[in-house]
Amino acid sequence: MNIILLGPPGAGKGTQAKLLEERHGLKQLSTGDMLRAAVTAGTETGKKAKAIMDRGDLVSDDVVVAIIADRLDQSDVKKGFILDGFPRNTAQAEALDTMLSGKKLKLDAVIEMKVDDEALIQRITGRFTCATCGQGYHDVFHRPKMEGVCDNCGGTTFTRRADDNEKTVRDRLGIYNKQTAPLVRYYGERGSLKTIDGMAEISDVTRQIEGVLSSV
Ligand code: ADP
Ligand code: AMP
Repeated sequence: MNIILLGPPGAGKGTQAKLLEERHGLKQLSTGDMLRAAVTAGTETGKKAKAIMDRGDLVSDDVVVAIIADRLDQSDVKKGFILDGFPRNTAQAEALDTMLSGKKLKLDAVIEMKVDDEALIQRITGRFTCATCGQGYHDVFHRPKMEGVCDNCGGTTFTRRADDNEKTVRDRLGIYNKQTAPLVRYYGERGSLKTIDGMAEISDVTRQIEGVLSSV
């Protein structure tokens, strides 16, 4: 099964993708995570992307399309993949269509996660992540079961993203509304779009996604 989780920053795409990875053996392909890994590793791509990401702009289409094309050739995506944060505009969606047909792959569903802007800001400004395994948490909505200890791996170091501040989040939401939201229509016209209520609790959002997956 190959799906796209489509939604603004903070909609819960990463949270749900990680749960789906565990339940269905699908592979999460997050362009944001891959770009952050390139920044940390200090690669040429990472050096170019860092300032763009810090201010919340989009990295060039060529770079992210090449990253995804390369990733789809690796063997760990054979059971299926979850695209998280890609495509982000119509040019990327068209590049993805071309790429998938060239690789004889298809999308089973594009799941749009709808969340109000103010809730998104609250979610993003409270987000933190286990530095060891990448498990995501929230100051209010999803705290580790034991204070300061990751539920998933027992790690005790947590990080917050440089771009998860209110100013940058508002800019990122503006970019989402202008450049990414048109993809709702793009996939709607192709019949692959399913919309869910991303405002619900994490477990309820998972149930809604499971409902979509069992219907396709
Ligand atoms: P995205 O990958 O779409 O940017 P995340 O999955 O990282 O979003 O979620 C953003 C923040 O909101 C995280 O701190 C996460 O724990 C929290 N979160 C995710 N889903 C929900 C939800 N349904 N209700 C409340 N908080 C949520
Ligand atoms: P995310 O982790 O999805 O919130 O992405 C973090 C940042 O990485 C974005 O604000 C962009 O700067 C960059 N990025 C991630 N995915 C893409 C993409 N598909 N196209 C362009 N830039 C991206």
